[in-house]
Amino acid sequence: MRRMVKALYPGSFDPVTCGHLDVIRRGVELFGSLVIAVGRNPAKQLIFPIEVRLELLRTVLDDAKLAVEVIAFDGLVVDFAKKVGARCLLRGVRSAGDFEYELSMAQMNRHLAPSVETLFVMPSSSYTFLSARLVRESGIFGASLKGFVPECIRATVEKRLQEQRPHAG
Ligand code: ADP
Repeated sequence: MRRMVKALYPGSFDPVTCGHLDVIRRGVELFGSLVIAVGRNPAKQLIFPIEVRLELLRTVLDDAKLAVEVIAFDGLVVDFAKKVGARCLLRGVRSAGDFEYELSMAQMNRHLAPSVETLFVMPSSSYTFLSARLVRESGIFGASLKGFVPECIRATVEKRLQEQRPHAG
């Protein structure tokens, strides 16, 4: 009998990108389902409010016909994982730079919660350069986000980012 492991994919998703969606698809393929945990992260400089980040994710998941739960959380990821009964944390790794950061975070999480395992997946090579930060920084100045964020949310994300553009003067 196949043992079901519940997996949690935590992140800021400010906003959700094609890279995130790639990781989500791999998670669903591996685990059958997935819970996405969206950090409120009041300390982080975020552009999209939590309600919008959740809504964008739900739109993307609906469009991709993926039955994935999306929940906002505060505090430690491992505490939230235990709360929802997830044994695995799913993370995406794009580069060696990502890996250094991800490794220290995974070791810290293991220290805090030895029963929670972190699993890394790498995205399709077309997304190894893609980050939510790059999307924010280019979108603010009017760059097309085609291929960077899923088409079903592209217009909304482009408009919202352009509204954040600092006015010269
Ligand atoms: P970002 O790093 O883009 O700001 P998050 O903080 O929301 O995004 O990241 C959540 C997780 O998703 C992290 O493990 C991050 O490495 C991963 N991730 C983000 N973008 C990609 C991508 N293009 N390919 C693979 N993993 C990614």
